[in-house]
Amino acid sequence: MARYRESVCRLCRREGMKLFLKGDRCYSEKCSIVRRNYPPGQHGQGRPKFSDYGVQLREKQKVKRLYGLLERQFRSTVSQAERMRGVTGENLLSLLERRLDNVVFRLGFTTSRAESRQLVRHGHFELNGRRTDIPSARVRKGDTISLTARGKKAARIEESLGAVEARALPSWLQLDIDNKTGQIVDDPIREELTLPIQEQLIVELYSR
Ligand code: SF4
Repeated sequence: MARYRESVCRLCRREGMKLFLKGDRCYSEKCSIVRRNYPPGQHGQGRPKFSDYGVQLREKQKVKRLYGLLERQFRSTVSQAERMRGVTGENLLSLLERRLDNVVFRLGFTTSRAESRQLVRHGHFELNGRRTDIPSARVRKGDTISLTARGKKAARIEESLGAVEARALPSWLQLDIDNKTGQIVDDPIREELTLPIQEQLIVELYSR
């Protein structure tokens, strides 16, 4: 599978905001947005002017990078959102939020979505009691996420769960920290996405 292999901090600098792609470093003074909050490259410190298309494109790139998707996968998620009932933009965010790798991150088993993806791929998690190694697997209300025998031994997960109280858990998720089990108790709530996202711009971009 294709992967982005360059510096992920460049992606945050390009979008002009923290996308929290690097775990603990994102909360420290070492964060590139704290130290150099301007776009990367020779002309990064100029004043960019965006057309309507440019604004829509940047919004799409931001969300795509936030969830760690490449173009093809993101496009197919948009198509899926378009086929669902309701508001396409909200459907899109709901589909992205309900990805297994995102939920593992949100529950606090890991410190970033990239780490979640890796640990899911390595078979550290069970979805409803069955080992699942597909980061894009979609969870639903009532599902349970737990650790496999291998996951229970992973020091990274233990460490991340140790710091979980410092992070706010969305109200649609519940974590039983003693049993290291998470539950999806509701559908994702749009208002609980703390980063500024204008999903309508993404829908407009793809309907051009
Ligand atoms: Fe983005 Fe984290 Fe790098 Fe800061 S440290 S620029 S939030 S990936």
